[in-house]
Amino acid sequence: MSSDAIIPPFRSGAIDNPNLPTPDFPAQEQRFPGLAQEMTPQPDHGETSYRGTGRLKGKRALITGGDSGIGAAAAIAFAREGADVAITYLPDEQPDADRVVAIIQAEGRTAIAIPGDLREEAFCKEMVESAVSQLGGLDVLVNNAGRQQFCNNLEDLTTQDFDATMKTNVYAPFWVTKAALPHMDKGASIIVTSSVQAFSPSAHLFDYAQSKAANVAFAQSLAKQLAPRGIRVNAVCPGPYWTALQISGGQPTDKATEHGKSQPLGRPGQPVEIAPIYVLLASDEGSYITGEYFGSVGGGGL
Ligand code: NAD
Ligand code: MG
Repeated sequence: MSSDAIIPPFRSGAIDNPNLPTPDFPAQEQRFPGLAQEMTPQPDHGETSYRGTGRLKGKRALITGGDSGIGAAAAIAFAREGADVAITYLPDEQPDADRVVAIIQAEGRTAIAIPGDLREEAFCKEMVESAVSQLGGLDVLVNNAGRQQFCNNLEDLTTQDFDATMKTNVYAPFWVTKAALPHMDKGASIIVTSSVQAFSPSAHLFDYAQSKAANVAFAQSLAKQLAPRGIRVNAVCPGPYWTALQISGGQPTDKATEHGKSQPLGRPGQPVEIAPIYVLLASDEGSYITGEYFGSVGGGGL
């Protein structure tokens, strides 16, 4: 066996790494959608820590919300595994998107950046057509963009807020997937980012938790529908991860400073720590995995 064979595809020893940020974090607030590059501490998207081994060689992937957080970690990992990657994001997030594009290009892969608002069906359709034509096809779709704005009382939750959450988290994956499917063939993979909130809804995330439960049903229903076509569909359910979502209205500021503290690991996950699940689900190695959901919660479980 060559020595290469025993090098893990992903960095090891994360749990023991004393450099992994542990709460309490400095109090910070940004306006939605927030920028990862303005967070303290900076999230680890795998910029220097993710190592690829060619598991997605030649694949073409589209990741919504690929500018920051979990989507950015998936985008960087996919490129390091040999994929060309298109990312979507809101126009205000251009600085974060630019960083991810530069990292993908540094791997010698094609990076496509498409800003726009996924709450519009027309944008979802145009964005998919643009990504497919620039990538030359589509093998992997990651419906990852999400809206989380906490609200403590049902009476204070406006119809506009409820609608924005559902449009972003439930309608957009439907619209994007509907537009993408005609371009996806046998062996393709669809992934949706759900949440631990699908199973353990918090009091202050009433609309968000419902939308994330819908994401699990999305994967489980569509997996059955698409199995005869050889297309797999799965959901990823993160627990507390250190991303812009949490400090731009996702949590009250005092809760965000303690993000992940109550988990047995005592800290939030860094986005790079969930990227291997996305890589597995996107890869041909995941060929018998469909209709499933995968947690990464920090010890508390789903
Ligand atoms: P993030 O803020 O870094 O990423 C979310 C992205 O969604 C944004 O970057 C933005 O580009 C995109 N987005 C939001 N509204 C949009 C809109 N109207 N149009 C287009 N794009 C839009 O945060 P993240 O935590 O990496 O979030 C990624 C996914 O992970 C989300 O679906 C979120 O619900 C889910 N999630 C996060 C956590 C966590 O603790 N961070 C936990 C469970 C699930
Ligand atoms: Mg962002």
